[in-house]
Amino acid sequence: MSTPTFEATIGLEVHAQLLTRTKLFCGCEATFGAPPNTHVCPVCLGLPGALPVLNREAVRMGVRAARALGLTILPRSIFARKNYFYPDLPKGYQITQYDRPFSEDGALEIAVPGAGPKIARIQRIHLEEDAGKSLHEPGRARVDLNRAGVPLIEIVGHPDLSSGEEAAIYLRALRDVLVCVGVNDGNLEEGSFRCDANVSIRPVGRADLGARVELKNLNSFRFVERAIGSEIARQRAVLETGGTIAQETRGWDEATGTTFAMRSKEEAHDSRYFPDPDLPPLDIDLALVREIDRALPELPAAKRARYMDSLGLPRQAAEVLTSHPRLSAFYEDALAAGADPVKAANFVGSEVLREARAHGLAMDLPVRARHVARLLTLVEEGTISGKQAKAVFARMCGTGKTPDDVVAELGLSQILDPDEIRRLCVAVVAANEKSAIAWRAGKKALLGFFVGQVMKASSGRANPALVNEILVQVLSTVAEEP
Ligand code: ZN
Ligand code: MN
Repeated sequence: MSTPTFEATIGLEVHAQLLTRTKLFCGCEATFGAPPNTHVCPVCLGLPGALPVLNREAVRMGVRAARALGLTILPRSIFARKNYFYPDLPKGYQITQYDRPFSEDGALEIAVPGAGPKIARIQRIHLEEDAGKSLHEPGRARVDLNRAGVPLIEIVGHPDLSSGEEAAIYLRALRDVLVCVGVNDGNLEEGSFRCDANVSIRPVGRADLGARVELKNLNSFRFVERAIGSEIARQRAVLETGGTIAQETRGWDEATGTTFAMRSKEEAHDSRYFPDPDLPPLDIDLALVREIDRALPELPAAKRARYMDSLGLPRQAAEVLTSHPRLSAFYEDALAAGADPVKAANFVGSEVLREARAHGLAMDLPVRARHVARLLTLVEEGTISGKQAKAVFARMCGTGKTPDDVVAELGLSQILDPDEIRRLCVAVVAANEKSAIAWRAGKKALLGFFVGQVMKASSGRANPALVNEILVQVLSTVAEEP
């Protein structure tokens, strides 16, 4: 009997923290990194009698994310209580949206290398509050509730992905959209963009999905790819040896490169969801949706397509430049200052990006875009070489100096004056009489030697094309003399 071939089915659930100033249902600050338990109040601590009030800015940001991903906004949605006990959840329930989310049915197009574009459908996006954070230490556990009540959107994908690689590509594309529309800072390490993955496999051709394993807390793109790949391999090995897959939650151990069982999967009815009696239904009117639609920026996919189709960039360069809104804005500023699109893309995507520092939505760029445009013009005009441009750029970084200042400072400008180059050539030919005779006798390969000598004599500043041209004249002219 031949071993059946298996196919994997992966659906991602992403929790993204909205960049509001305050929490979802109270006025506490939602910032990261404050001393533990300094951003708390009776509402987010779940003290008796405290009443939640919905943060309208969180709603606007949620709608913006949903519209950027093509979801339909539902006019009325309901906040529900998801009941469970955990030390970092002081109320004993999480306020979330259950059977009535505020948006549904969207999609994200992803580009899988070697396989072309693929549509990954998004089932729903809903609003919910974050829990606090348990800090486990030897012998004790502590709880920080600064994060309790921070607004999240949960983005629930359909199981349309089929490998760890596709999952990582989807996740990057999703992050780029959320960062682009300004609702999330895309920071996996600080936990403001988190991913759980549902992974199952089935024999090729079978219609129903296999038992589903949920992988928790995959906090880097690399972990997502590796954990899913490892989990698919584990499930296949279990099925091929006649075993069955348990429906459970598993974690990722980066050290061993394997997943491990955490707990058996709880069913929805265990959480006893019910509508939150303290919160009215959330009504989102069409006028707000229209206003948000009008204000949406050009999204990464559209920008990428434009860079490729009308500016002639290769996909790779277009992807790099559209990975952060500040970077693409910088690139477009350089174009507005007259830079060539392809040359600017290469320079911004390598030299500039290497020196850029992103902090969420902000990005520190080391130089001004119009200075990059000017630097590329200096190369284009032959004033400096491409190699010298990198040295000039290094001196421009963080100093505010213009490329012209640095070129003057370093004495780098190329020698373009034919008379000056001719003087250098004549001197070099005179000093290398034997080689000049050999060149005239037909050893044309010696030209490279002469070029090298002239470049050396000019400290690398002579324009190489002119040196070549004038050297040939000088060598030939001498031959014609009696
Ligand atoms: Zn609070
Ligand atoms: Mn959730």
